[in-house]
Amino acid sequence: MHTDIETNDAKNPLEPDRASIERMGRAVIDRIADFVDGVHRTPAGRFGASDALVKQLLRPPPEGQGDFPALLDAFHAAAEHGLDTAGPGYLAYFPAGGLISSAFAELVAQTYNRYTAVAELAPALVAMEHGILRWLCDQFGLPSSATGLVTTGGSLATLAAVVAARHDRLGEDLARSTLYVTEHTHYCVGKAARIAGLPASSVRLVPTRGLRMDPDAAARLITADRTRGLRPFLLVGTAGTTSTGTIDPLPELGTLARKERLWFHVDAAYGGGFQLTDRGRASLAGIEKADSIVFDPHKSLFLPYGTGVLLARDARTLHAAHAGGGDYLQDLTGLDELPDYGHLGPELTREFRGMRLWLPLHLHGVGAFREALDEKLDLARLAYRDLASDPLLDVPWEPDLTVVVFRMRADDATNQRFLERINGTGQAFLSSTRVCERFYLRLNATSHRTHAPYLRQALALIHACARDLART
Ligand SMILES: *Cc1c(COP(=O)(O)O)cnc(C)c1O
Repeated sequence: MHTDIETNDAKNPLEPDRASIERMGRAVIDRIADFVDGVHRTPAGRFGASDALVKQLLRPPPEGQGDFPALLDAFHAAAEHGLDTAGPGYLAYFPAGGLISSAFAELVAQTYNRYTAVAELAPALVAMEHGILRWLCDQFGLPSSATGLVTTGGSLATLAAVVAARHDRLGEDLARSTLYVTEHTHYCVGKAARIAGLPASSVRLVPTRGLRMDPDAAARLITADRTRGLRPFLLVGTAGTTSTGTIDPLPELGTLARKERLWFHVDAAYGGGFQLTDRGRASLAGIEKADSIVFDPHKSLFLPYGTGVLLARDARTLHAAHAGGGDYLQDLTGLDELPDYGHLGPELTREFRGMRLWLPLHLHGVGAFREALDEKLDLARLAYRDLASDPLLDVPWEPDLTVVVFRMRADDATNQRFLERINGTGQAFLSSTRVCERFYLRLNATSHRTHAPYLRQALALIHACARDLART
């Protein structure tokens, strides 16, 4: 009987036999080993000439079987087009590289395909994930009542946080409620508020001082809003803004939020990982006052895309806002209880997402991450000093963490050409932003694959492009 079942399985095209699995596995391993070997030599961006390929790849799947190596080739060819976000030359937005150990973790977790939305169904796996999240709560100085949730990214984590804040502070009545951000807050906060049913007018912009939220201005605005009959409920501080990497004055904002009984949310999507370093921890002081923290391991822990984390000071607030019923509250009584992730955020069915964090952290050890992040802080100092020494460049803000913004002492159009010239070389890829209504180039060397020699080359390239442009 048992043999019959196995024979049947062997004929099932959806269940490759052991020899096929090994063949497919070797093909994948060869492919990714070649990729990682070559990732230091590939150009940072390869744009254009992909129209035919795009058209070809838009084809629907065939009725019959395909060829595994040929399909891997198709993926490889497709990935060659566009921005190389895995290599050392990617200095735009938030480079993270993508740890191969995390990719392996994902392969294993997906193959076992365990259901981790409800702790009872995979208690030991949930414990692995919960152990990482509890450790993160400790790193950020949150109390033992805190818990966490691994999401697909900062945006979804922010949504869960805003919904928790709304539920905790407003209950069912959303009328006239207000939340407080600055012009430098990531747009996902406003988007989360919108999805959470709050009108655009509920998002209040607090004035800034030197790119940071001004706590006195926030206090005045909150008081004025209350006087007008509005209902302030949420204050958002950013630990590393997207444009400039600037950290809001978290201690003052935390104190203000507590005094005004506002939920204090800290968006550390980018900056969170630096909490593992002494310098980062000093810069992020005050984050321990947060009611919720969003942190993207796919930014500052070098993990592949698709990994965000939400930490909440009181597990019950996440649960109350996302569980199917209030009765679930009784399950979450303390540290020793394992959470039902399906009741802490918007998703129910989910993969064993913890594995992609657990394996790299246990394999490499926290020290390896700490050292790499310290190196990134050093690289930012190096870039700042180097760019600031060029009389052609204006580098107005010393980096709080690792984002360095600069511009040529010329008009915006010239700076746009400056960026295009740098990126056109294919040797490095930077992004740009607007600060105080001016165009700035933005450099962020935080990939685990970007080290000082590569950065020095990129900086030399930037100086050369500036000189070229200044001559024309
Ligand atoms: C990237 C970022 C986000 C959004 O996170 P995603 O993972 O892209 O959804 C939110 N806030 C800040 C400060 C960010 O840098």
